[in-house]
Amino acid sequence: VYRSRSAFKLLELNAAWGSFLSRKDVRAVVDLGAAPGGWSQVVSEKLGWIDSATPDWDDSDVASEYGLQLGRVPGPERNLDASSSWRTKQGRGVIVSVDLLPITPIPGVHAMQMDFLDPQAGAAIKAVLSTPENPSGVVDIILSDMAANFSGYKTRDVESSLDICHSIFNFAKDNLRVQDSPQEATKRRRGGTLLLKHFTHPLLQEFRKHFLEPNFHNVHYIKPTSSRTESAEGYWLCRGWKGVKS
Ligand code: SAM
Repeated sequence: VYRSRSAFKLLELNAAWGSFLSRKDVRAVVDLGAAPGGWSQVVSEKLGWIDSATPDWDDSDVASEYGLQLGRVPGPERNLDASSSWRTKQGRGVIVSVDLLPITPIPGVHAMQMDFLDPQAGAAIKAVLSTPENPSGVVDIILSDMAANFSGYKTRDVESSLDICHSIFNFAKDNLRVQDSPQEATKRRRGGTLLLKHFTHPLLQEFRKHFLEPNFHNVHYIKPTSSRTESAEGYWLCRGWKGVKS
């Protein structure tokens, strides 16, 4: 069973936007603000580390609450903490999940408990991403559901969201897979994907305009139906990282 209702947002987004998580060439995913781990469970499933077709459990009540037709979902038992109860298999690629809070183990997921806004965080994540299969440590997909605790003061909340967006953009600049050159385009290795939660506010629109739009092929604003309508959060799905010319 999923550890958080946020998992349904990611499933919904993935299904609506071309199954970007399920592509066979996805080898490295970073999940920022990942605790308690619902999104990471979804990624683990999509990269083949968890068997999603468990015969003895389905989550259709929760799924129908969100209007989703999910069928069976991963996790043979309701026991959220018993990672040993997962039906695991050999998946592909590397998943790095980061949060201030601890994340109970998930197959295929390397959990790092730290502050992503710490200046050392990017290098620490990159060290984990660099494997013999992926020596450059390049990332195919960056997901961020990261949100500072709401203070109730709008200015402060907007600033926090902006800080988070800028830090993630800087991380993307150093690590997200750049599209192949036009000569190689027939291989269809597209540039990396960024899914970014943000606070809806004009200052964040400026961030989108100046940082995201010039550097990705397309940027879509998304408000998942499974996201509470009154909340000020939204997501940008940014696809086809072009790489920043510096
Ligand atoms: N996507 C998660 C899931 O499916 O379980 C839920 C994420 S929750 C909405 C947001 C998370 O962002 C919180 O767990 C919080 O601790 C984390 N967070 C906020 N600021 C952070 C920071 N500076 N560094 C790392 N994690 C942070």
